[in-house]
Amino acid sequence: MLRGIHVVVIGGDARQLEVIKKFSDLKATVTLVGFEDLNEEMPSVEKKPLDEETLRKADVVVLPVVGTDDQGYVESIFSSRPIRLLDQHLACLNQHAVIYTGMARDYLERLATKHSIKLVQLLGRNDVAIYNSIPTAEGALMMAIENTDITIHGSTCAVLGFGRTGMTMARTLKNLGARVKVGARREDHLARIYEMGFIPFHTNELRSCVHDIDLLFNTIPTRIVTREVLDSMPKSAVIIDLASSPGGTDFQYAEKMGIKALLAPGLPGIVAPKTAGKIMADTLSRLVLEQKGNQEE
Ligand code: NAP
Repeated sequence: MLRGIHVVVIGGDARQLEVIKKFSDLKATVTLVGFEDLNEEMPSVEKKPLDEETLRKADVVVLPVVGTDDQGYVESIFSSRPIRLLDQHLACLNQHAVIYTGMARDYLERLATKHSIKLVQLLGRNDVAIYNSIPTAEGALMMAIENTDITIHGSTCAVLGFGRTGMTMARTLKNLGARVKVGARREDHLARIYEMGFIPFHTNELRSCVHDIDLLFNTIPTRIVTREVLDSMPKSAVIIDLASSPGGTDFQYAEKMGIKALLAPGLPGIVAPKTAGKIMADTLSRLVLEQKGNQEE
């Protein structure tokens, strides 16, 4: 239970509703900032403006998946008013308070460091990235189905990268009956790709491995699907680029070649906001319970 812990949730989207419910269920005191347009009844949850009085009492501050932009603005789909987190706000936080967010831009990192406030970036955690790979792979599959006229079953797919997202993507495709090639650069990854029944190839040999593919799913966050690779692919192939913006594909050249290439950011929040919210809520509540335990020692 989190009785006695004061959580201030600032902005966000549908995912934050799961976080709010979880903290309420655990009996934390929850204050919402930037939720004026939220009509859902939430007993024992207060709505307040972003001011020093609200923040002074906070043990935990929860920001959206992208904490702030480079000027400190926090996005909220539940408010039409701008919300801006400033130096003066962090200055009034307790030294034991912890800020949790999905990922932080330099602006937020700088403020937290300046005021010696602990900042936790949830998307940097292995467990969260692995859980998130499930809605990501499902979202990528949805896009693949919408953008092809063939079944995944019986298709030939290439997955680039064998990290948290790549592994889940490859397994999901194989489970549907696709022939799956997986590109990686590490010898241990290539061995594991083979062991799991995929067709391994080194990313240095990408060009020679794409001549027969129907679909390519990229998870490598660097320009890897180059002109040369695109020149080697069938024109009918579809690329779903999952890597963080700007992706790993030469999109301009793909368009010129008539190859459909789609950048697909933020899939968990788009295709499964409730699940994505639960992933955040479960991880956050575990971390805050640990934080409470440490403070009580
Ligand atoms: P990850 O676990 O770090 O996996 C990335 C993989 O790319 C690793 O296996 C890494 O291999 C490989 N890689 C990196 N640079 C490479 C290069 N130059 N050549 C060959 N392989 C290379 O990351 P992740 O969690 O799977 O996420 C992958 C990307 O997807 C990130 O950009 C992430 O932001 C994004 N993402 C997007 C969504 C979405 O909704 N679209 C959702 C989740 C994540 P090494 O071990 O050899 O470095």
